[in-house]
Amino acid sequence: MGIAADIRRLVDRTPFVDTHEHLWEESVRLRALDLEDESKMPAPDIGMLFSHYTDSDLKVAGMPGDALAVAFRWDIAPRDKWKALEPYYRRTHNTGYMMNVRESLRLLYDEDDLRADNVERISAKMRAAVQPGFYRVVLRDFANIEYAQVNCIEGPIFGETAQPDLLAQDLSFAALSAAGDRDRLAAEAGVTLKGLKDWHAVIDWAFETYGPRAIAVKSQNAYARGLDYARVAAEEAAPYFEKMLRDRGALEAAERKAVEDHLFHYCVHKATEYDLPVKLHTGYYAGHNSIPLGRLQGNPAEMCELCRAHPDARFVFMHITYPYHDHIIAAAKHWPNAYIDMCWAWIINPMACVRFVKEFLGAAPACKLLTFGGDYRPVEMVPGHAAVARRGLAQALSELVEERWLREAELEALTDCLMRGNAHELFDLERTLKNWNKVQ
Ligand SMILES: [Zn+2]
Repeated sequence: MGIAADIRRLVDRTPFVDTHEHLWEESVRLRALDLEDESKMPAPDIGMLFSHYTDSDLKVAGMPGDALAVAFRWDIAPRDKWKALEPYYRRTHNTGYMMNVRESLRLLYDEDDLRADNVERISAKMRAAVQPGFYRVVLRDFANIEYAQVNCIEGPIFGETAQPDLLAQDLSFAALSAAGDRDRLAAEAGVTLKGLKDWHAVIDWAFETYGPRAIAVKSQNAYARGLDYARVAAEEAAPYFEKMLRDRGALEAAERKAVEDHLFHYCVHKATEYDLPVKLHTGYYAGHNSIPLGRLQGNPAEMCELCRAHPDARFVFMHITYPYHDHIIAAAKHWPNAYIDMCWAWIINPMACVRFVKEFLGAAPACKLLTFGGDYRPVEMVPGHAAVARRGLAQALSELVEERWLREAELEALTDCLMRGNAHELFDLERTLKNWNKVQ
């Protein structure tokens, strides 16, 4: 008992570097208070707690989408929202997503659960907390996070944050590598699109413009396809790209794949040139009614081929490729350029993550593992996720010590590298801050 409590204290006092979030800019949250428009932002009350990930569990447990939509409205009282939410919350109370809710409630509002008699009180506290500077309070003071890495999903490929020391930004290359959002990106780059070379120029512009301030590059294109990116030469991809431009000509699946395959490798080369780690979504899908597990099963083997093709790139495979996390321990052990990020995974399946940390540390170098990313849009959910992660990480380390796989003397250094040191080694925040200063 003694050692477990000591380890818990060590993990609690060690700050996380949070390697993955989708947080709105703080100013967007503040502006939403005047707009009161749920199509732009859920109301800052208990509905916000059911707007990301939790919404999937509720729907899978039978909650109709239109009933859930009521929870996000600005013109409905929290007590009435609760009447609609409660039956489905009860059915999903056991999951990691819902544990996350309760941990955030405990840390931020000193409440142990949602009930009819406290949803108004909690909602009032949530609304009152949305003040200038509240992100720093939530992330630093309540979640003990040094800084977070944000993948902006509001449209731009890079988030022009006002707080780069707190909210480092990924350069999203999802559209760049899939030839998506072509007209807007080409216009921003000042490029007239006639052929593949012009799209290369758009990619070059994106890296020149945002690369110096980016903490990493990120793509979630594994939501739409496998990671089987073949080496396709520019000469082979160019006619398909031109066909795509011509009268918006639709491509055959194989032609589209060839274009994307070529562009993906082009982007990875650029990221390597700018010394930016390449973060890739792998494994489980957000949402519901969509996951093709058969395709995801191919992720670990495809990841190995990427590592082989780009020995100088540093790949960060996100979400432990759940539920194929056993396989990627082998990838992390084998490839020097494969890093594994546990972002989101702690709340997808907390107990699988405890086992994963133990088995990873028995097999692969500890420097290859990043142990936390909240992966949230609402900042209020991050302290809860960090608490679930800390609980699981402390349990894994305690079990390793109790089972005599790990010596107590190694704990402090190991904990520091898992929670923050590995991220500092892999991601260069100082460089980004120097470059942010140049443009401000
Ligand atoms: Zn994400």
